[in-house]
Amino acid sequence: MNLRQVDLDREHPGVLASYIVEADESILVFDPGPASTIETLYSHLTPSPGRRIYVFVTHVHLDHAGGLGHLLELVRVERVFVHERGVKHLVDPERLWESSLSVLGEKAVAWGKPKPVDPAIIEGVRGGMTVKAGDLAVEVVNCEGHASHQVCYYLPNGTMFPGDALGEVYEGSILLLTPPPFIASEALASLDRIARLKPKRLAIPHFGVYDGDSRLCERYKAKLLTALCLASAHSGDAGELLELLRNDEEYRRGLALLSTRDQMLARGFLERSISGLIDYINKYGWHCPQLNM
Ligand SMILES: [Zn+2]
Repeated sequence: MNLRQVDLDREHPGVLASYIVEADESILVFDPGPASTIETLYSHLTPSPGRRIYVFVTHVHLDHAGGLGHLLELVRVERVFVHERGVKHLVDPERLWESSLSVLGEKAVAWGKPKPVDPAIIEGVRGGMTVKAGDLAVEVVNCEGHASHQVCYYLPNGTMFPGDALGEVYEGSILLLTPPPFIASEALASLDRIARLKPKRLAIPHFGVYDGDSRLCERYKAKLLTALCLASAHSGDAGELLELLRNDEEYRRGLALLSTRDQMLARGFLERSISGLIDYINKYGWHCPQLNM
């Protein structure tokens, strides 16, 4: 079994990855990516009569699964796995497309409009299930929080596909990925679930394969808790929070890397994540024991 990373966006390398696992009887694709880069993914797929293709969707956001319907026009896929709450968005992507346009604007247009997926090949999953892809058993982990329809996938060899549960990571610098409707309590519980499994490696869509020892889960959790405390301490003042995070060295480094790689994606990135945190606090409140952070 080997793991291959496909750097999807030729115009913006180092931002968007899909992962391919080749096993004896099957080829597994983890997040096929947006419509605009599906040709790149396809050029890395080498279907053979004895091996069937299975697609695992962590969540239906455009940059993870917007290209699935386009991929299905190029290659035969045996089965598509997605959170049971995500099924309807794959079958009829119109609402998802409209909301992506309003949140992401020109970036949504650049990633392209999704095409409907035939429900007959979709299997809705949820955390705690194990699904079969040919000779491989894949564990489904509840990873809600970033999205209410996110799952992570875990392979018997210790490889974890966390989707956006660990944020975006550029050369080791972590950026919170918490756009609305972000559910902090679920996101924190998801991080604990991932950490408990002690994955050997984490295949991060944005961006790269990290060793389990990199302690990404623990670091992301600490960052999230700090940001939630800051947001509650500053009474949900987006401007102040933005200022604080912009002055944080790790954020500066991560955002600088993202801006050089994909300026359009970097634009408003921090603001979107901050509004997700503030919306959450306004709705559910947040108790922070260390208000002097
Ligand atoms: Zn996402």
